[in-house]
Amino acid sequence: MSFTPESGDRLRNFMTEPTCHPLFEVRASPIHGRGVHALHWLPRGTCLGTYEGRRYDDAALLDIDWGQRHDGMTYLFALSDGTTIDGAEGGNDLRFLNYACRPNCEAVEWREEDGCLVLRLATVDTVAAGAELFLDYGLVIDESESALDYPCRCGLPGCRGTLVAATT
Ligand SMILES: [Zn+2]
Repeated sequence: MSFTPESGDRLRNFMTEPTCHPLFEVRASPIHGRGVHALHWLPRGTCLGTYEGRRYDDAALLDIDWGQRHDGMTYLFALSDGTTIDGAEGGNDLRFLNYACRPNCEAVEWREEDGCLVLRLATVDTVAAGAELFLDYGLVIDESESALDYPCRCGLPGCRGTLVAATT
């Protein structure tokens, strides 16, 4: 599972038609539940796809007990236009991306041609074939909650011990 420049060039070529060549698979993660793992060496900047799911506006979200609804698992992404995507409903495999304090992927807001704001996920580092893909959730919690309620198990050097975003 080592990178060679040749395989990297092949990858760049087929990235233009990624539907024919899945870039990742979902399987058990050593860190938490299921995770997303690269099937090939991925160069930095590889678009993994769009985060799918049911779209809510803020008002709709307030009426829902999310913890009850999805067995405590949360797949919510809040966008800067005030909408939220719930990957638990109609979501794709990208909802299984686990958190790490030093992520190799990033969520990028992307304006579609029709004006719709979507979330795209892309690698921010080269990723070895077989490696798990991680995201920094940028998790924000209520004042009544503790960061300790959201422990991080990434085990990477510099692990902050929590999924909650650092406040500056
Ligand atoms: Zn960590």
